[in-house]
Amino acid sequence: MFQKILIANRGEIALRVLRAARELGIQTVAVHSTADAEAMHVRLADESVCIGPPPSRDSYLNIHQIVAACEITGADAVHPGYGFLSENAKFADILAAHNITFIGPRADHIRIMGDKIEAKRTAQRLGIPVVPGSDGAVTDEATAKKIAAEIGYPVIIKASAGGGGRGMKVARSEADLEIALATARSEAGAAFGDDAVYVEKYLEKPRHIEVQVMGDGDGRAVHLGERDCSLQRRHQKVWEEANSPALNAADRTRIGTTVANAMAELSYAGAGTVEFLYENGEFYFIEMNTRLQVEHPVTEAITGIDLVHEQIRVASGSGLSVEQKDIKFNGHAIECRINAEDPKTFTPSPGTVSHFHTPGGLGIRVDSAVFSGYRIPPFYDSLIGKLIVHGSNRVECMMRLRRALGEFVVDGIKTTLPLFQELVNNTDIANGDYDIHWLEKYLADSH
Ligand code: ADP
Repeated sequence: MFQKILIANRGEIALRVLRAARELGIQTVAVHSTADAEAMHVRLADESVCIGPPPSRDSYLNIHQIVAACEITGADAVHPGYGFLSENAKFADILAAHNITFIGPRADHIRIMGDKIEAKRTAQRLGIPVVPGSDGAVTDEATAKKIAAEIGYPVIIKASAGGGGRGMKVARSEADLEIALATARSEAGAAFGDDAVYVEKYLEKPRHIEVQVMGDGDGRAVHLGERDCSLQRRHQKVWEEANSPALNAADRTRIGTTVANAMAELSYAGAGTVEFLYENGEFYFIEMNTRLQVEHPVTEAITGIDLVHEQIRVASGSGLSVEQKDIKFNGHAIECRINAEDPKTFTPSPGTVSHFHTPGGLGIRVDSAVFSGYRIPPFYDSLIGKLIVHGSNRVECMMRLRRALGEFVVDGIKTTLPLFQELVNNTDIANGDYDIHWLEKYLADSH
């Protein structure tokens, strides 16, 4: 097992990893920018190293500084959290060259899944269902038209190097296609320095359903069920639940087994999430994230398995602590991502949190690095905490969530808590009746 883990992240996820390491008796090193000198992850870690000025590119994305911090403190492993360097294959390679373990999958798996065309091709080869579309990149209009005619309109043009919902264009007819293709290519070239695009069927009312998987890197893999993350704003997840209100046990086993078998065949190591669009009973692969997800706690709530413990075990060579037959899905869990933003306009609202009080009681978990008097710096994303609620079924979970939201106090800044107070009382949400466009439409109609 590792002696000392350096956590190359900040905020709630840095605390999340620190807690897991401490439970396993492993020392922790926090790294931080000058803006985060007073942050909770720095206070709670055994050691800390300042790695640069506030902008992420000079600190949390600065590979040299992070490797130097490992050398200074003698850390033998790095946990990257999510975002920042978590899906950077070069970072994984550099750590390996310094004999430091990257707590994540193999660099070549990160590379494959970071290239959407390659990822889709790999998924298909491994028996994972994909969205019908072009086989690889499309450069000319004639080919795009031919494929679109075969799969039928509407179609979506997507950037191979895309991410964060950028570089996508929908074409509803052949007349739209020329412009959509040209725009998608030039946007992709400008945003990602790579103008490769591909064409696929555009699904009108899908849900976003993703499968959590853990591999031991040695040909074994398990799935931990799915999460429904259909409630999104600008392709950013807002509310996530496990299980999905749209799936039955047979669907869950079918897609989970497909994903676990595929990851076993790949000898995938550590935590991964395979994301699907789900429509009319069919799953369509869209991408795989080769890291821990923000919404992983809902899976932990219903399985009772600590995903960060498992990541650390696998990376250290101890293997997975569970087999598929040990994994049971118990009750229902919902996570609300609470952002420091105006709940109507979603403009960021950094500043000092004058008072912070979190809800408690049975089935409540709050993952946050905020405390009363904490000053939220303006340099990073606006997530300030996650409220995760577990109940023996979805109805109980919603009752408990409504109660917990009522206890949550964040004074001094604006937060998205009022949005969740609305959602928890909405009939469509109560019925689990929503797709990936529901929240945008709700906000346009009501705000
Ligand atoms: P990114 O990596 O940029 O987040 P994804 O491939 O995960 O890109 O797609 C982001 C979102 O775009 C999806 O969650 C979905 O809302 C929409 N999307 C992607 N592909 C399709 C498709 N074929 N049909 C309909 N919507 C899609």
